[in-house]
Amino acid sequence: MTSADPVALAEALIRCPSVTPDEAGALAFCEKVLAEAGFATERVTFSTPGTPDVENLYARCGTGAPYLLFAGHTDVVPPGDAGRWRHDPFSGTIEDGVLYGRGACDMKGGVAAMLAAAIRFVMANPGFGGSIGFLLTGDEEGPAVNGTVKLLEWAKARGERFDHCILGEPTNPKHLGDMIKIGRRGSLTGHLTVHGRQGHVAYPHLADNPVHGMVRLISALLAEPLDAGTAHFAPSNLEMTTFDVGNPASNVIPAEARATFNIRFNDTWLPATLAAEIERRLAAAAGNAVRYEVAFAPTNATAFVTEPGDFVTLVQDAVEAHTGRRPALSTTGGTSDARFIKDHCPVIEYGLVGETMHQVDECARVSDIEALTAIYETVLSRYFMPS
Ligand SMILES: [Zn+2]
Repeated sequence: MTSADPVALAEALIRCPSVTPDEAGALAFCEKVLAEAGFATERVTFSTPGTPDVENLYARCGTGAPYLLFAGHTDVVPPGDAGRWRHDPFSGTIEDGVLYGRGACDMKGGVAAMLAAAIRFVMANPGFGGSIGFLLTGDEEGPAVNGTVKLLEWAKARGERFDHCILGEPTNPKHLGDMIKIGRRGSLTGHLTVHGRQGHVAYPHLADNPVHGMVRLISALLAEPLDAGTAHFAPSNLEMTTFDVGNPASNVIPAEARATFNIRFNDTWLPATLAAEIERRLAAAAGNAVRYEVAFAPTNATAFVTEPGDFVTLVQDAVEAHTGRRPALSTTGGTSDARFIKDHCPVIEYGLVGETMHQVDECARVSDIEALTAIYETVLSRYFMPS
């Protein structure tokens, strides 16, 4: 049966050119496959002024507890110049045991493995007693406004309660047994402006150079670590991403300097407490000498961790059973939709090897897609039928 063959599913999904926010048949395909396997499915479209409408899919098999949710996205980033690809990015071509195409690892290959594993499991165990669900969005690679975050609220309003979630993002750096993500860092962006007074460089006493003030403020931000790291996280990290003056004249002191920084922060902080600490450091460095303002971009990316315990161990064991390697528990990398799911149930992330995600010639080993399916199946078996 095709629907239990993860490689055929992955090929079919890659052939849907679902660049965010286009659905392009990808969710419709998942819905059809799940409905045929006995899942109750719902398509939900969310709108927000100023952002594209986004289609989503929710599916559930079973009515009992516990409830294990698979989450993922079927949208992909644009392929760029298709001529630079070895194969058409939406052809889903297999060459030498490798499946090529946009989304092969991020994350249509992962979605295909989740679908095949769940379908195989419910076919083999029709009376398993619990519930298996799918929460698939078309809005992960875009603004992430009309996707997972709203779909979770929608499900909650309907009385859906999840016990655990696996998000199938590509978490492995090189090999399938490398890494499970049990949390993510938060992200905070700040825009810094220093005001000065324009003047002639030969008459600095008549001017006020904002570049010097900006250097002072940036030095203060970089001088001391934000924290020493926590049990599951590396120290928070501040990166200056730009410093702009835009002054073409070498004999003019400019009137204004701007800079932007981004902080990837751990569970020491909330966005508000971190912003307050940054403001404190800036104020101390500026004293009465630097006129500045700092503005923080709104963020919905807070740091979180799913504490190791029975569920994390169960997934770790399943990965080890199929790969022979015990995956590390990590909180590295960028943000993901797990930051929304964690408000509803404990969530871990485990998927394919992410080496080529967002790149030309994105790909996944066929053997990895099959092994990932087997790992998910083992998770389901041990989750619903503990021995
Ligand atoms: Zn992804």
